[in-house]
Amino acid sequence: MNTQAHTCTGLHEIAAQVRAGASTASSRVEACLARISDRGTALHAFNEVHADEARAAATRIDASIKRGENPGALAGVILAIKDNIATTQGHTTCSSRFLENYRSPFDASVIQRLQSQGAILIGKTNLDEFAMGSSTENSAFGATRNPWDQTRVPGGSSGGSAAAVSAGFCDAALGSDTGGSIRQPASLCGCVGFKPTYGRISRYGLVAFGSSLDQIGPFAKDVRGCAELFEAMAGRDTLDSTTVDLPVPDCCTQLDEPLRGLRIGVPREYRTDANAPSVARALDEAIAAYKSMGATIVDVELPLTDVGISTYYVIAPAEASSNLARFDGIRYGHRATLEAGEGLEDLYAKSRSQGFGPEVQRRIMLGTYVLSSGYYDAYYNRALQVRRRIREEFDHAFTKCDVLLGPTSPIPAFEIGGKKDPWAMYLCDVYTVNTNIAGIPGISLNTSYAQEGNSTLPIGMQLQGPAFSEALLLRAARMLERTMPPSYPA
Ligand code: GLN
Repeated sequence: MNTQAHTCTGLHEIAAQVRAGASTASSRVEACLARISDRGTALHAFNEVHADEARAAATRIDASIKRGENPGALAGVILAIKDNIATTQGHTTCSSRFLENYRSPFDASVIQRLQSQGAILIGKTNLDEFAMGSSTENSAFGATRNPWDQTRVPGGSSGGSAAAVSAGFCDAALGSDTGGSIRQPASLCGCVGFKPTYGRISRYGLVAFGSSLDQIGPFAKDVRGCAELFEAMAGRDTLDSTTVDLPVPDCCTQLDEPLRGLRIGVPREYRTDANAPSVARALDEAIAAYKSMGATIVDVELPLTDVGISTYYVIAPAEASSNLARFDGIRYGHRATLEAGEGLEDLYAKSRSQGFGPEVQRRIMLGTYVLSSGYYDAYYNRALQVRRRIREEFDHAFTKCDVLLGPTSPIPAFEIGGKKDPWAMYLCDVYTVNTNIAGIPGISLNTSYAQEGNSTLPIGMQLQGPAFSEALLLRAARMLERTMPPSYPA
């Protein structure tokens, strides 16, 4: 595989070049469309490419610059959007048959914020149906392929966004992360993926999966790109009452300045035999890199790491079963045809069994079960108690260190069709679900590679920090990135 070392340009720098006339939004859109026409079909990163709309937006931006106006800090920056984030541009399908023809009458708050700063949307990216999965194979429209090796998965559920960034189809992308769906595909595709603190970024217009866990976040080719998009999207939104009323931190100005006296916590539970040898080695390399920069490595314990998956698979399906109840075949999406004598109940049942794929149906059944009377206390309430303990465990760990370091995924990208058992798929998220359960921020960046047969596969490391510590977390990630600059498939 040919690779290309990536020089950190930053999205603001791209926009500055566009505003200064050194580049144009139109030529940038054409360059992305050319790369999409080369590899777009093979990778299936997009559900929909919006060539006309992107060209029109670029023309407007270039014209406004000619008139001497300032189209914003993201002028001419090209973004791909996960197809569970509402856009008036094109469809919003969640990669589900149920919403195959759905057009949103409104834009998500993040879309409004980004477009108002000059960003251009190039298309909607593929995902596991309703963001349920870790490989993007659960899309009703077919799997996305990993740009490093097309026989392998890109991770999920935001696999389309991760693949689009790594393949150079866009400058950056948006995903959503409920249990790892930004960080795990970033790790498997070799780009940077960032899940901010719960409440930092408005979820208004994100199709809800697990509302107490969901968070929108950026994918970019480097940490700086994620920091810039984060700042552009973050902050209180009156349309989402869970957003916090805290000032958005300045994450960019000091991003390149190494942190003195940084304490890196490495949880004992993140170093297990479950990790592929290549992943274990990558962790050792990352630890060594931090040591060489003067950071202190602290051993910490997170004994509840291994109950994260079971806790998540009670809470997330419970919330999903209630969130997905709105898809009834009447208000939204697919409506089944009734036979003579069938009634309203049949309409719900038929529409939902035709419209939802097997994994979504499994989650709805699981969620309905754990919420049903007689089981509610045993499962749902119990999971909420464990959730509180997981939060306390992180709080305790953060009294000993500033950030936590570990692998994002226990294994590099696996073969398409390679994980048939749902439980084996769920285990891909062992290191990422607890971040959402605790509501803290996490970032994954590429630090190493595995050689498997003829394939070179990226390996990502995850850093987690205390709630609202994004500025520190991004700076700590940038330190590691400087020692291991990213590269992408040429
Ligand atoms: N893989 C996890 C799941 O299937 C997480 C998905 C996500 O973060 N959206 O639920």
